[in-house]
Amino acid sequence: MILETAGRVLDEHQLCDRCLGRLFARLGRGTNEERGRAIRLVLRMERQAQGDFPVLGGEKCEVCGGIFDELPNMAGICLEKAREIEFSTFWVGSRFPAEVLERERALWEKYGIGTAESIKTEFNRELGKLLSEKLGKEPSSVGDLTFIVNPFGKTVELQIKPVYIYGRYRKLVRGISQTPLKGYRDSVSSIICRPVSREAGGKCVFKGAGREDSDVRMLGNGRPFILEIKNPRRRSLNLKSLVVEINSGGKVEVLDVRFTSGDEARRVLTSSHRKEYLATVFVEEGVSPKEAAIVARMLKGAEIRQRTPRRVKRSRTDKTRIKKVYHAEVRWMDEQRFELRLVTDGGLYIKELISGDEGRTNPSVSGILDKPALCESLDVINILDD
Ligand SMILES: [Zn+2]
Repeated sequence: MILETAGRVLDEHQLCDRCLGRLFARLGRGTNEERGRAIRLVLRMERQAQGDFPVLGGEKCEVCGGIFDELPNMAGICLEKAREIEFSTFWVGSRFPAEVLERERALWEKYGIGTAESIKTEFNRELGKLLSEKLGKEPSSVGDLTFIVNPFGKTVELQIKPVYIYGRYRKLVRGISQTPLKGYRDSVSSIICRPVSREAGGKCVFKGAGREDSDVRMLGNGRPFILEIKNPRRRSLNLKSLVVEINSGGKVEVLDVRFTSGDEARRVLTSSHRKEYLATVFVEEGVSPKEAAIVARMLKGAEIRQRTPRRVKRSRTDKTRIKKVYHAEVRWMDEQRFELRLVTDGGLYIKELISGDEGRTNPSVSGILDKPALCESLDVINILDD
């Protein structure tokens, strides 16, 4: 069957040994080139013996046009491009002109061939072998670096796998926003990303698991965050020395810093954690220790209906969310102030829980006291993991 089909193909088309062998790639072992050479040899011997038409040669291949001769050249371009990039495994992908792929598909259909492999698969594999030899590294479909080659255009594009880093941050001072904001010099994101970007030689993107306002400190065990470093030139970063450098500024402190996967990064960013807060509540009309105690009793275990606060309405959908207060505790300070310690669901706006946000948050401290109350200062004390 193989010989008969191959004979019909070669009577009508000029194919090199690779492209001939590739039509039967799924049958037997060896390279396509070896397979093609063997088939042609046997066909020639048979035809000669029968005094039949000789088999066409493969000097000018109709399918590949001799593109496999470009392999060493393409390998050279790949090596040059990857010279200053750190990676331990790599992969090869390619872009071929549509008409080349169309030509081979037309052959498969015309001769009813179901055992072929695509020219791209062979080219990628052969280039991978060459590169593996020169680099001393293994190809892997989940490699750090992917070469996307276009052998007809003689170009190579690099796709570098991002590096993900997990950590938690503590914001020790007020007046720093989490991400860069007009009018602020520093942000949690810029303080952490600056040295990481420099060391990795790529773009560092900071993502927090939630956020706090710029006037709120983030204390305790810190808020989880993920760094995604895009197109990193170096991946074996010294995290310890980066932590020391970030923490030396004294405004933001990072802890538990380690490398992570893209999957874990997504989980960290989408899970909502309970949080523990410490707020100072200011009541201009005055508040007694007894009134403060009522606030704690009423909030503990309460379900809060909170419509999106007026101050963030522009950036979030306006809807009512239901969040729970698990724990509430007060410490009376003076005639106008008490300290309020809370454990709540993630995503509850504490400033509005205190002010009531003109009735948009219910119940609220203002509502319970039946007089205006304001959040004078706020800290996130802990982010509870379970
Ligand atoms: Zn060919």
